[in-house]
Amino acid sequence: MMIPFKIALSKVLQHAKPIGIEQINLEKLLGCHLAEDIKTRFNIPVFDNSSVDGYCVKLSDFKGAKFPVKLSLAGEIKAGDKLNKNLTKDKTIKILTGAQIPKGTDAIVMKEFTKEENGKVVFYKAAKSAENIRFKGEEFQKKNKVLDKGTKITPPVIGLIASLGYSKVKVFKKPKISIVVTGNELILPGKKLSSGKIYDSNSYALTGCLNEIGITSYKLQRVKDNQASIRKSISKAIKSSDVIITVGGISVGDYDFVKDVFISLRVKTIFTKIAMKPAKPNYFGVIKHKNQKKLVFGLPGNPVSSILSFHQIIKPALLKIMGGKAVTPFKMKAQLEKEVKKNKGRLEFVRGIVSQSNGKLEVAPTKGQGSHMLGGMINANCLINFPREKSFLSKGTEVEVDFIDWN
Ligand code: AMP
Ligand code: MG
Repeated sequence: MMIPFKIALSKVLQHAKPIGIEQINLEKLLGCHLAEDIKTRFNIPVFDNSSVDGYCVKLSDFKGAKFPVKLSLAGEIKAGDKLNKNLTKDKTIKILTGAQIPKGTDAIVMKEFTKEENGKVVFYKAAKSAENIRFKGEEFQKKNKVLDKGTKITPPVIGLIASLGYSKVKVFKKPKISIVVTGNELILPGKKLSSGKIYDSNSYALTGCLNEIGITSYKLQRVKDNQASIRKSISKAIKSSDVIITVGGISVGDYDFVKDVFISLRVKTIFTKIAMKPAKPNYFGVIKHKNQKKLVFGLPGNPVSSILSFHQIIKPALLKIMGGKAVTPFKMKAQLEKEVKKNKGRLEFVRGIVSQSNGKLEVAPTKGQGSHMLGGMINANCLINFPREKSFLSKGTEVEVDFIDWN
């Protein structure tokens, strides 16, 4: 039975749950999600400091004065220095960006509005109170929550965690993944092609998809279309992984053994087909091994079908396991730049290019919509949702598009 895409996705997400928490060093955090709220133990900024290279001044020294004004230079403070001096009347202290602000300072005048000569500084401009001062605690106050549990760790999040002084934080564990690639026709890139053979591209495209969401370790097995070998590989994968992804051999062909193997290994089938195009044959099941639930995905082998299925179904599941909140692709509405046609009965993910024109978002299908044509996927930055029950959409129709994150 073929089930609607939305139902398929919601069933997968129902079964995808975090599998544990671990502490990870800053260097390895990218792509993880926080499993704890992060508080700051001190104020950020840590101390009042200068946002520019310039001179500390007292506003009273400028009151009623005619510019330029001269003040005598009473020292210098640079980033990292201890405070050793207060600013007194008719004096200025040179200050560099990030340096602590000496007591008695009302503002910093930028170097660009001054000139230094013979132990004095000439000011061509007055300053406003507090100008160019970054105040202690103005961004985050001591003991306050800075980051929420579930936050996706992006480069600025890593930076912020580091600036709070933590060298490691608690995140949701990444799942252990096994990929089993099937097909008698597959040859490794770099080797010589022989009659009837093609290069295995899915192994690389799919492990690329894993890398892209921060999963850099996985097990990959390649097997021939032979039931016994497929069974051995899948059985091994189930024992060693939380998520098992097979590629190819999931349709109705005489040598498509993967589904039978899943069933014979007592994987509980949730669905076998999705009313989507491409990638209609699409298996999802679950199995308990040593009291742990494992997710089992059987992807069709066509290169676009397999990575599109990954993007639309497996990636949201993996992100949810890794504690993510917004796990499905970002959606927007755009107007079709040209008409599109298809048969009714399946939601089609038309590979598209969305762009802005006269303040509106417009979208056009890419060239090469075959499920074997990676070219049409490479140029796409979105997937146009061509609804299941429609067979024609005219130019100008507003459609939903899912952004492709790697573009
Ligand atoms: P299957 O799902 O096994 O019936 O394969 C569907 C199509 O995808 C066939 O044309 C296969 O040759 C092709 N295909 C299967 N696996 C791969 C792979 N790993 N890399 C490239 N093409 C593949
Ligand atoms: Mg095959």
